[in-house]
This record gives sequence, structure tokens and C-alpha cells, in this order.
Amino acid sequence: MDLSRAAAEALDAADPLAGFRARFAGTAEDGPDRLLYLDGNSLGRMPLATPAALTRVVEREWAEGLVGSWSEWIGTAARVGDALGSGVLGAAPGQVLVGDSTTVNLYKLLAAAAAARPDRDVLVCTADDFPTDRYVVAGVAEARGMTVREIEADIDEGLDLDVLAAALDERVAVVVLSLVAYRSGALADVAEVTRLVHEAGALLLWDLSHAVGAVPVDLDASGADLAVGCTYKYLNGGPGAPAFLYVRRDLQDELRSPIQGWFGQRDQFAMGPRYVPAEGIERFGVGTPPVLGMAAVEVGAGLVAEAGIDALAAKGRALTDLVVALGDEWLLPAGMALASPRDANRRGAHVTFAHPRAWQLTQALLARRVVPDFRTPDRVRLGPAPLYTRFVDVWDAMARFRDVLADGSYETFPAERARVT
Ligand SMILES: *Cc1c(COP(=O)(O)O)cnc(C)c1O
Repeated sequence: MDLSRAAAEALDAADPLAGFRARFAGTAEDGPDRLLYLDGNSLGRMPLATPAALTRVVEREWAEGLVGSWSEWIGTAARVGDALGSGVLGAAPGQVLVGDSTTVNLYKLLAAAAAARPDRDVLVCTADDFPTDRYVVAGVAEARGMTVREIEADIDEGLDLDVLAAALDERVAVVVLSLVAYRSGALADVAEVTRLVHEAGALLLWDLSHAVGAVPVDLDASGADLAVGCTYKYLNGGPGAPAFLYVRRDLQDELRSPIQGWFGQRDQFAMGPRYVPAEGIERFGVGTPPVLGMAAVEVGAGLVAEAGIDALAAKGRALTDLVVALGDEWLLPAGMALASPRDANRRGAHVTFAHPRAWQLTQALLARRVVPDFRTPDRVRLGPAPLYTRFVDVWDAMARFRDVLADGSYETFPAERARVT
């Protein structure tokens, strides 16, 4: 691989997605000291079309339409869900709903799935999954008198299929897994995981938070049962944007939400005496949907669908290949270690490096206007979101990283993250 800056410029010139960058805020700044944002996997950039979409809801639907806009709002969760399903998730209509946070959606689907397998008493997750996932699994298990099998997953290479297989038997009700590991970016083997979990007679619940918008997710084709995911990362829905949930159509009748809210009620406005779940995906609704947030999700998800997930994934592999190659050249000789799978086909769209001084290095990079993320225990995570990050941005960020390591200035930053109690 040609690792010159000119080669990175040539990759940008040939990039079929290059035109999307100008449709995001903050991308006009140029020059050698510009901000290099490599944290789109934590909070995506703002699409320039988002303020107008929000203003339309506020000024037209709310200020003018007042309560008359209810009829418009009431179907938004399913309408935006269908758009996300067809444009990004490989899901036919009627299986995706937008609303609530990822955490709440995970709770709803996990509790529903566990209740649908009353003869089984074990939940499986990985010890290295995102905290909220492990906490929700533990909480649901406790409430239902179930046991958790927290299986080991290598924090750099991800889940080993033999380890998963060894944890599966006729006691397992549900397996919760992240498709892309939040720390290392390791990508699970969808076909093999699905086969193993289904062979054991268990239900599979994917967390797609770090995958959606970064790698292809063919929910229907893969035979997935259940999924949840976040919309403020690669989908650029903005802070607090409502999450999504997926329930395969033939499972919907069997599953009941643990939260019996009026938005999951059949014939909602009959205001009947008892809760009777709606037919279809809408039974997983809870309360009044976050209408403003959904308008922003619609814009963000629309851009991802327009770019096309295969093109985004291909660019994500090329960008992270460049990160890995420049890391080999500049960072590894200076004491950093690659903490992600080396094979691009086994990664999402982010790459992580390990160093005992990772916290200080992160602070020093921020001071040089490179935005990475620190991740425990000693990781610097770089997420060059393919929709708006250029190859030269990666090249320049890695060059600043090289300089920060070489000049030792990171040693002047506090050695640890201040504890927030
Ligand atoms: C980002 C992320 C979440 C976020 O959950 P919220 O409820 O939106 O705060 C959950 N799970 C994973 C794996 C994530 O990466």
C-alpha cells in the first residue's frame, strides 16, 4: 500500500461517496489545523438538512397544527421504522419500530423473549459487551429468577464461536450479542452465530449500535429473531435520538412487551378498560413517541440509505485499512499495539490501539484537534465514519498521532480520567 499523503488524496478523488461530506455540518473547515473528527461512531455529525426538518415539525406541525398534528405523529414510529428497515437494515415493512432508547428497547425485547421461553432459565451475553447490555441482561435475569452465563470474548478479536457453542444448551432462552464490538470493532460471524443459537433452540437478540450504518445488516436474510440499535452513531440522528427495535414478523404474535403502554394497545383511542396488545410491531410501542427526535432520525437514516450500505461498508474497510497500515508504520514502532482484528472483513468501521498511557494520549490528541475516544482499560479508539470522513483526514490524524507519541507532550496531561462520583 502506498502510504503517502498523495495516495490518500487519490483515494478521495476516486471515492464515490465523496459528495456526502458537504452535506454535514463542520466539514467546510479546511487547512492543516482543521478539526479531525474520528468519533462518528460515538456521536455522528449533524446533517445540514436536520435543522430544517426540526423547524418544520416545530413551526408547522406544532405551532400551526397544534393537536391536529397528532394524526401525523401517531404513525411516525412505524413509518420511520419501515424506512430504516428497507434502507439500512434489510428488513421488510412491519418489523422495525423507532422510539425509546437502545437500553429500553433491549429491556423490552429481552424480557419479552425470556417470557416466551418459560421452560428455559439461562440468558447468555459476553463479558465484554457494552455495559448497558450486561446490566439489562443481569436485571432481567434477576427479576425472572434466571441465571446469566457471561461468556468470555477476546477484547481485541471478539467472540470465539467455540466459546459460544460451549455455552449453549437446552437451558438457554436468549443470547444477547453486539454485532460489532464497541471497543475493538470486532465483527461477529452472523451466519455461524445464528446457526449455533438456533440449533440450541434459543432466541438471538442482536445489538446493532456500532454496526448500523457501518456494515451490511441483512436482518431478514440472516434469519435474525430480534435486534435493537442506536441512531445517533453512524445514523447521525443527533443527541438522544430515539433508537430502533426489530422483531421478525412470525415472532410478533408470540412476544409481549413487558411495558403495557397505551401506544402498544390495540385500538388505542378506544381507551378500553384493559391492555390488549396491538397486532404487529406496534405492540412494542410504549408511550408518546419523541416526534422531534424522529424527524432527525429520518434525515440521518435517509442519508445512509441514499449512500447505500455496501458502498459505506467498502469505504469503511478502506479507511480502517489505512488506519491499520499507518499504525503499523508510525504507531506500533512507538509502543502502541493494534487492539482490533487485522482483517478488514472481521471489523466494523472503527479501529482501536492499546497503550499504557492511552488516557493521556487521548487528551493530547484532543489538544491537537483530533477527536478519538478513550476506552477502558488502555485503548484509543478511532472511528472514521465513512459517510463524511476523507482518506486525507485519516492520514492527517494519524500524522498528528505519530507526532504526539514522538514529542512526549502527552506526559504533561493528567495520568487518569478524573473519577465522577
Ligand atoms: C451506544 C450503545 C448503546 C447506547 O444505549 P442508549 O440507551 O442509547 O444510551 C447501547 N448498546 C451498545 C452496544 C452501544 O454501543
